[in-house]
Amino acid sequence: MSQTSSGERFGFATNAIHAGQEPDPTTGSVIVPIHATSTYAQDGVGGLRGGYEYSRTGNPTRTALEECLAALESGRFARAFGSGMAATDAVLRAVCRPGNHILIPNDAYGGTFRLVDKILTQWGIEYTPVPLSDLDAVRAAVRPTTRLLWCETPTNPLLTVADIAGLAGIAADADARLVVDNTFASPYLQTPLALGADVVVHSTTKYLGGHSDVVGGAAVTSDPELDEKLAFLQNGAGAVPGPFDAWLTLRGLKTLAVRMDRHCDNAERIAVALGEHPRVRAVYYPGLPTHPGHEVAVKQMRRGGGMISFLVDSEEAALEVCSRTRLFTLAESLGGVESLIEHPGRMTHASTAGSQLQVPAELVRLSVGIEDVDDLLDDLLTALG
Ligand SMILES: *Cc1c(COP(=O)(O)O)cnc(C)c1O
Repeated sequence: MSQTSSGERFGFATNAIHAGQEPDPTTGSVIVPIHATSTYAQDGVGGLRGGYEYSRTGNPTRTALEECLAALESGRFARAFGSGMAATDAVLRAVCRPGNHILIPNDAYGGTFRLVDKILTQWGIEYTPVPLSDLDAVRAAVRPTTRLLWCETPTNPLLTVADIAGLAGIAADADARLVVDNTFASPYLQTPLALGADVVVHSTTKYLGGHSDVVGGAAVTSDPELDEKLAFLQNGAGAVPGPFDAWLTLRGLKTLAVRMDRHCDNAERIAVALGEHPRVRAVYYPGLPTHPGHEVAVKQMRRGGGMISFLVDSEEAALEVCSRTRLFTLAESLGGVESLIEHPGRMTHASTAGSQLQVPAELVRLSVGIEDVDDLLDDLLTALG
């Protein structure tokens, strides 16, 4: 159902606007309708129109979103979920069985760490956190039972860059699957399936939706067997998005290319300015030539993205900056048109306290929005004092 026919033929921005989004055949509606229905009339028992029977199993608005997502990630199939964590959970359960071992980034998204550490371990999954930017360390951590390599690049919140093609080689040698959480880069900047990944996961809540008005997730693959397992979990466990949420995400996707370019323009200027600021001890931004992952980033990413983290002198100073900005809103999440600031140690990554994944208390994270960059710079520099 979610196989894309147009993915091959058009450029990214065209696919974002048209893939899976033909004018409605019955009315000509140019925009995909919100199919607010739980069930579908059958023409005689089992006589389904267009394959739809119940909206947990399938819904035309969701199908449009899935086809568009597949096209943007250069995948054959996409499955939409009610959140990024629901998509993460579905992928982990599609691939792993009790007794399996998985590798996760040693600075993984806090929610992913929590899901693995607090929930999946109860079901017999073992895990090892590894620095994914170090391929030798990754290779050394593989066990005979390793079935999955979970990658985020750039990571949250330290913007570490992992070599996706290198990891794909390690996964293939180990007969394991490589999953890439592509939330931070978005498919506009990086397409992991083309670099050898088996599955791409998204929190569509972030750049794909892009307007901080909807929570959602997705898993994209070109492997029909994996897709079948994901579809089975989508229907069998039921963590699906409703048609309104699918529609909002689809609307956000249309402008992904232009938004990402502006996010990158603004973030590049802000990263340079932070790097020159006397109160800033370190800037983490893959677009900066001084970033340790810059070379790999240049190889696999179109540009550096819209996320920046930086270190100040103390936790107190970090909390102070977070409380003093006016345009940068103090809030969790990222990827919306508006700029956000947060303190990972106390907010998004509080659940990693005391673990190997704990983040520095002096760290501040920015989600750089698409406002006028001069206004953003003024705001930040004033807050830094
Ligand atoms: C937000 C986020 C998630 C989780 O997605 P939700 O939509 O909040 O469930 C997963 N990975 C990364 C990198 C994220 O930023």
